[in-house]
Amino acid sequence: MPPTFPLNADLHCHSTVSDGWLTPSDLVQRAAANGVELLALTDHDEIAGIGEAVATARLCGIGFVPGVEISVTFLDETIHVVGLNIDPDHPVLLEGLRQVRSGREERARQMSEALDAIGIHDVLEGARQFARNPALVGRAHFARHLVAIGLMPDVATVFRHYLARGKPGYVPHVWARLEDAVGWIRAAGGIAVMAHPGRYHLAASDMNALFDRFVDHGGEAVEVVSGAHTAAEVQRFASVARRRGLLASRASDFHGGDESPVDLGRGDPLPPDLVPVWSRFPELARIRDRS
Ligand code: AMP
Ligand code: MN
Ligand code: MN
Ligand code: MN
Repeated sequence: MPPTFPLNADLHCHSTVSDGWLTPSDLVQRAAANGVELLALTDHDEIAGIGEAVATARLCGIGFVPGVEISVTFLDETIHVVGLNIDPDHPVLLEGLRQVRSGREERARQMSEALDAIGIHDVLEGARQFARNPALVGRAHFARHLVAIGLMPDVATVFRHYLARGKPGYVPHVWARLEDAVGWIRAAGGIAVMAHPGRYHLAASDMNALFDRFVDHGGEAVEVVSGAHTAAEVQRFASVARRRGLLASRASDFHGGDESPVDLGRGDPLPPDLVPVWSRFPELARIRDRS
């Protein structure tokens, strides 16, 4: 059997600990029902859901890898770096994530004020109602509240009109530095993965610079198959993985509700010549023994 045998791996998704709709336990059960064999929970800037997810994965008999998705600012653009196979108790990682989260409260207040200035009043409390984790109020929670009050038909439309960069409810924010995010992941024994690079508004030269810096700092993998990628973007980042010798990840970036184009475990397989990031996980041996 080849070391990584075909595997339904989904290595990026969100629970109620950040901006997903399902609890960690419900998320893992849905993944198992969908045939996922190896799942990573990667909440934004937070690992608090991992304990529950590990326990449920054990009950469901699927493989599980602890993860996180860290918000980073690079060249004025928000970049997401996923950490996989991290030690969720590592103090360096925990302190880094605490710092990243600490800016969210003030940002949420500013978003509320920005919306207030264009006549959309008193939305902070409403957004908070959608955030099960009070330390992690984000744009998705504002978007859900604006849909709930009937302002817009769906979350994607809210982002287009109000919350995307350059729109009136968008508040620029400085997240972690790229080298710090990668450093925290590595300190915690994890593999740093460039999340959904197809989503970044970067010119080709800046995208190159992003990958140069990412690799310099110890980044090792890229999401090739992502729920956020078109077929052309899958090809583009498969080429990046080949050219740079990066490991490849496969990810739905599932959030639940009606917000995710790809359900857990339902993305395309990786191009077969790429080296899957899960070839580096000890968890792989356990799954292979079971199968
Ligand atoms: P934040 O970290 O608060 O800036 O929120 C980022 C999150 O907002 C992403 O992880 C997605 O869940 C959501 N999001 C960003 N852009 C969009 C979009 N265009 N449509 C729907 N959801 C989006
Ligand atoms: Mn999200
Ligand atoms: Mn992301
Ligand atoms: Mn995500």
